[in-house]
Amino acid sequence: MDPPDLPGPDRLMGVDGMAGQAGREYVETLVIGGGQAGLVTGYQLSQRDLPYKIIDANERVGDAWRNRWDSLRLFTPNRFNHLPGMPFPGFHWAFPSKNEMADYLESYARKFDLPVETGVRVERLTREGDRFVATSADRRFEADNVVIAMSSWQRPRVPDYASELDPGIVQLHVAEYKNPGQLQEGDVLVVGAGNSGGEVAIELVRTHKVLLSGTGNGAIPFRPESVPARVLMPFVGRVIFHRVLTTRTPIGKKARPKWISTGEPLIRVKPKDLAAVGVERVPRVTGVQSGLPQLEDGRSMEVANVVWCTGFHPGFSWIDLPVLGPQEPLHRRGIVESESGLYFIGLKFLYSVSSEQIQGVGRDADYIAGKIAARHGVRGADRSANDSPEERETQQI
Ligand SMILES: Cc1cc2nc3c(=O)[nH]c(=O)nc-3n(C[C@H](O)[C@H](O)[C@H](O)COP(=O)(O)OP(=O)(O)OC[C@H]3O[C@@H](n4cnc5c(N)ncnc54)[C@H](O)[C@@H]3O)c2cc1C
Repeated sequence: MDPPDLPGPDRLMGVDGMAGQAGREYVETLVIGGGQAGLVTGYQLSQRDLPYKIIDANERVGDAWRNRWDSLRLFTPNRFNHLPGMPFPGFHWAFPSKNEMADYLESYARKFDLPVETGVRVERLTREGDRFVATSADRRFEADNVVIAMSSWQRPRVPDYASELDPGIVQLHVAEYKNPGQLQEGDVLVVGAGNSGGEVAIELVRTHKVLLSGTGNGAIPFRPESVPARVLMPFVGRVIFHRVLTTRTPIGKKARPKWISTGEPLIRVKPKDLAAVGVERVPRVTGVQSGLPQLEDGRSMEVANVVWCTGFHPGFSWIDLPVLGPQEPLHRRGIVESESGLYFIGLKFLYSVSSEQIQGVGRDADYIAGKIAARHGVRGADRSANDSPEERETQQI
C-alpha cells in the first residue's frame, strides 16, 4: 500500500510568514506521533477545522504495528479495532494481523486526507516564549499547541546486566524479535511472562527448548476467540475498561496507580497452554554470573538465546520541558496544566484503561481537540466527553 499523499503546504502551515523559510515551519498545532493516537487526534482537529500537522519518525503510517513480531495478531477483535469514522474491514469477531492493523491506519490517514509527514523524528521539544519549538535533524517546527501522541512504550527496557551476557549468547529485546529464525540452535530463555513473553514462548517452543522466566500478572478468565468472549469482551472492554475504570470514578482512581506500574494479565496464551506445549517455567532473572543469566534461586542458565520481554520505557528524554514525573508525564486527562498548550494522548490509563487501546483513544482525542479548539476561541468546541459521539456510543451498550 502506498503512503498517503500529503496535502499542500497551505493546509499544513499556519499563516505566519515563516512557511517559506528553509527548515523552519509554523503550525498552530503540531501532533508528534502518527500512530493511532496521532491520527485520531488529527481526525478530531479536522472535524473542528483547526490547522495542524502530524509528524512521525517512522517511514510509513502504521509502522509501529508493522515493526512488531511477524506472527502477532491483535488481542481485540475487529469490532473494537476501529477509530471514529471508519469501520475495521472484515468479520466483526476476527482478530487481525499486525499488518492488517497497520494497513487500516494507513487507509485511515488517506481516507481523511490527514496531513502526516513521516520520516521526521523530533529530537528536542522545548518552549521559546509563547511557542513550542520541536527540532529534528534539519527541521524546526514552531507551534502554539503540541500533542504528544504515543503509547507509553517507545524505548525497549532491558536490565543493565544484559551487557554482561556472554557474547556467544544471542540476545534481543521483543521490540527486535520477528521470528524464530533470528535465534541460534540451543535453549532459549524468554525473560518476562507477560503477554509478549507468553506469545513469543509459545511460538519458539516449536523450534527450541524454551524456559520462561517470571511470574506474570494472572490471566483473564476467558479466551478472546471463544463464544462467551463475545458477551464478556464488550462488557470488559466497553464498560469496565472504558467507563468504570476512569480517572473520574473512585474505583478507577484506586486502580490506576497499580495499573500504570504493572503489566497486564495474560490475554490469549494462558499458563496451562504454556505447560501443555512444554514451556518450562523458571523464576525471575536477577543478574548475570560468569556470562550466564542467573535466576532468583541462584541457578545459572546455560542457554544459547535470551529474548527480553521486559517491557518498555516511554522514551521521553527528548522532551526538554519540566513536565515529566517519576512515573509518567504530569497531566490531567492528557492536559499539561503547567505548560499551557501541551497535551499527551495514548499513554497508559491517560483517562481510562481503554485510553491506550484502539477502541478508547478516540474519546481522548475528542476531548483534547475540544480543549485546543476552546483555547483558540472556537465556540461550542469544548464539549464534555460525556457528550461525545464515543461516549454516546458506549451508553447504548
Ligand atoms: C504487542 C502489542 C499488542 C497490542 N495489541 C493491542 C490490541 O490487540 N488491541 C488494542 O486495542 N491495543 C493493543 N495494543 C496497545 C496499543 O493499541 C498499541 O500499542 C498502539 O500501537 C498504540 O498506538 P499509539 O498511536 O498510541 O502509539 P504507537 O503505536 O507507539 O505510535 C507512536 C508513534 O510515534 C512515533 N514517535 C515516537 N517518538 C517520536 C518522536 N520523537 N518524533 C516523531 N515521532 C515519534 C513513532 O514512530 C510511532 O509511529 C498492543 C500493544 C502492543 C505493544
